[in-house]
Amino acid sequence: MDQDESDISLSATEIEKFFTCPYCWQEISFLIDTTQTEIDFVEDCEVCCHPIAVHCEIANGDIMTFEGAKAQ
Ligand SMILES: [Zn+2]
Repeated sequence: MDQDESDISLSATEIEKFFTCPYCWQEISFLIDTTQTEIDFVEDCEVCCHPIAVHCEIANGDIMTFEGAKAQ
């Protein structure tokens, strides 16, 4: 791996979005790429490992809509 370890701060194009897991009700976070306008992805909860389907809409570098639900 060839990573620049001097750059440990988050990129300005990413927002850490905090969210409550619909399975275990723990607060978890996802990194959202704000250069996109709409993102859909499924990611496992970092606490209970259940899959969460996330839908996110972004405008002007800010999160307008963020929905997370149990992935079926
Ligand atoms: Zn969970």
